[in-house]
Amino acid sequence: MKLSCRASLIKPSATLAITAKAKKLKVEGKNVVSFGAGEPDFDTPDYIKNAVKNALDKGQTKYTPVSGIDELKAAIAEKFLGDYGVRYENSEIIVSCGGKHSLYNLFSAMLNDGDEIIIPSPYWVSYTEIIKLSGGVPVIADTSKNNFKFNLKLMEGALTAKTKGVILNSPSNPTGVLMDEKDTTDIANFAKKNGLYIITDDIYEKIIFDGKKFFNALMVDKSMKENTIAVNAVSKTYSMTGFRIGYTTGPKDLISAMNNIQSQSTSNPTTFAQYGALAALKGGYEFTVMMRDEFQKRRNYMLDFFDTNIKSMIPIKPDGAFYLFVDISKIFSNAKKEIKINSSTGFCDYLLDKYLVAAVPGIEFGNDNFIRLSYATGLDVIKEGLDRIKEAANSLL
Ligand code: PMP
Ligand code: GLU
Repeated sequence: MKLSCRASLIKPSATLAITAKAKKLKVEGKNVVSFGAGEPDFDTPDYIKNAVKNALDKGQTKYTPVSGIDELKAAIAEKFLGDYGVRYENSEIIVSCGGKHSLYNLFSAMLNDGDEIIIPSPYWVSYTEIIKLSGGVPVIADTSKNNFKFNLKLMEGALTAKTKGVILNSPSNPTGVLMDEKDTTDIANFAKKNGLYIITDDIYEKIIFDGKKFFNALMVDKSMKENTIAVNAVSKTYSMTGFRIGYTTGPKDLISAMNNIQSQSTSNPTTFAQYGALAALKGGYEFTVMMRDEFQKRRNYMLDFFDTNIKSMIPIKPDGAFYLFVDISKIFSNAKKEIKINSSTGFCDYLLDKYLVAAVPGIEFGNDNFIRLSYATGLDVIKEGLDRIKEAANSLL
């Protein structure tokens, strides 16, 4: 069939593809260690599961309002007031089928053909594709020469007359790096002055290490609400990736347009999953803190291991999330002549084919000198995987 131009512009999600490939190899009986998955390995807490069971028992199996049940929107408003000191009405909130769907609806509602969105690189794989699907143009601002920290200067370098907004994702997928409070403040003030929108993707906001603090554009001052669009989800915070519940807050007219789009595509997000999300948002952060502390232990183990055992691979120290972005360019420059590995994809293929270790090539996140390792997997698996990576790296030098 002759497909639409839009469909042919889009590539499949590499993170999902690699996770699926690793799972398939495991089912075939191969002893694969997967650093692919971008989802917490912890079971969803019982109080959340029980809320879903109760909802089902009570007959919550029918349509809800398109933008989600009022109680859930009220709980989201309460979270925004508590966390950022900013007040939202239900009409400024829409619940969608996961953070990814929130972003899809958002860009469908805000972009005309040719409108540009600045994306700090390295970036999460789906930003560029979702923007292209909406007719927009992703404009990449490389942070690699600034310790992977985005700032106003980098933003100004990417600006054109067509810029409509910028995505801030802190801590970042894939680097785990947190933005500095001052940089966020400068960018927020600049955006406000110049009529640009900040899309703050706060999906990893509760997974931050070493006692560091989260800070987004809404926290600069209350007036930032006008041109800030916040996207979030229960997926990572409560280990609820399969529930597919995300949410967006923003200007009323934008939320209303997203509502129209959602009403003609998915209708409401799954009814009983919304009751699970409600219980999650009301239930505090005890579970999240336990998960965060565990991620921090794994991060520390991995950083130590690379430092001591794999000198040819250099990770960026993450402040949060659960990914390690590792520089492999030394391997390219020092590899044995007969070995022709000179791309992140080549290295990941080598890791999987020869050592049964799944990792995501950095090129998918906009930087071919890196690979991404997700440590959302148990420490024993991490230890085994790192031993294999060490062997692989040594075999190339
Ligand atoms: N933003 C970022 C940065 C992510 O890593 C993810 C992970 N999938 C999402 C948004 C979307 O999450 P979900 O659709 O699973 O809620
Ligand atoms: N965000 C996660 C990741 O980066 C989950 C997979 C996806 O949606 O991309 O791996």
